[in-house]
Amino acid sequence: MARDYYGILGVDKNATDQEIKKAYRKMARKYHPDLNPDDETAAEKFRDAALAQEVLLDPQKRQIVDMGGDPMEQGGGGAGAGAGGFGGFGGGGLGDIFAEFFGGGAGGSRGPKSRVQPGNDALLRTRITLEEAYTGLKKKVTVDTAVLCDTCSGTGSESKSKPVTCDNCNGMGEIQEMQRSFLGNVMTTRPCPKCQGFGEVITDPCNHCAGDGRVKKRRDITVNIPAGINDGMRIRMASQGEVGHGGGPAGDLYVEVHTEEHPVFQRNADDLNLTVRVPMIDAALGTNFTIDQLNGEELTIDIEPGTQPGESIKVDGAGMPRLRTDGFGNLFAHVDVVVPKDLDRKTRESLEKIRNSRDEGARVRTTGDGQEESFFSRIRDKFRR
Ligand SMILES: [Zn+2]
Ligand SMILES: [Zn+2]
Repeated sequence: MARDYYGILGVDKNATDQEIKKAYRKMARKYHPDLNPDDETAAEKFRDAALAQEVLLDPQKRQIVDMGGDPMEQGGGGAGAGAGGFGGFGGGGLGDIFAEFFGGGAGGSRGPKSRVQPGNDALLRTRITLEEAYTGLKKKVTVDTAVLCDTCSGTGSESKSKPVTCDNCNGMGEIQEMQRSFLGNVMTTRPCPKCQGFGEVITDPCNHCAGDGRVKKRRDITVNIPAGINDGMRIRMASQGEVGHGGGPAGDLYVEVHTEEHPVFQRNADDLNLTVRVPMIDAALGTNFTIDQLNGEELTIDIEPGTQPGESIKVDGAGMPRLRTDGFGNLFAHVDVVVPKDLDRKTRESLEKIRNSRDEGARVRTTGDGQEESFFSRIRDKFRR
């Protein structure tokens, strides 16, 4: 059964944090063990007051108290353990929606568990383009989670009346049974079937949520995705997860952001890479070309005369925005020199003329021959590296 934390400190339900601290200090002075040696009642009051202050100054714990629960009676298991009803999400064609829940697992506690439990965290995945990762955006996502039941305001009771002590287990939340075995009498303990281990029952369960205090609902929420977000990062949205059993405070929602592949750019941390196909003549004579950047602006990249296959051109600051600091990564344009095939007669004659005038036939480089490297030897060296 839930303890009366307000009553322990003698404060009002609407007490401010200041009033709670003041009431605690007053009790602490009165019941401090140093002033009351050998007084077990005073020691207990001192401990209770400290606990009540801790609970009431914690907004989440206080909310559980206000919903009629006891945050210090959660048992050893995960929050909302097996509360049931909100397991299978995202069934069939829901697009963005495939919220899953962490946690769970049955609490192996003894004694009654609090009817009001904090809610589970939820996880949702969403996909964005590389352009969106560059600029950042506010993205609307649809999420299916347990929300507070409007009909009973989370109390689980149609008339919003307080739960009553379970008469099957006398509020213990568990039933002890003596069983005869060949070893003699064995005492076994199991959760009370009438109150499901809560130690209290709702006499008129809410028709809308069947006493659970929450219902499943689809909501649209807006996620603020920062510029420069990396693939697979999770954005935490406080209290947007699943509302707990009995109307307990909601867990958090995590939105996991995945970036789609881009047809031009490959991302490497804060840097961007792209490959440019440069015709042989342009690589020899030099040229420039223009690309559309992720922010929509054009960028002109110069190819210097004599650019070699496999060279990369670095453009400072033309990469992705850095997520945690100012500034941008760099852009690397990797040059792929394209050699023409299927030459027409005229082009072929022109190239032959150039070849004859250049006198630079393919040759194997020998050690220290001092000659300019041939194209083929360079290729060979490249494979050796
Ligand atoms: Zn309800
Ligand atoms: Zn019971």
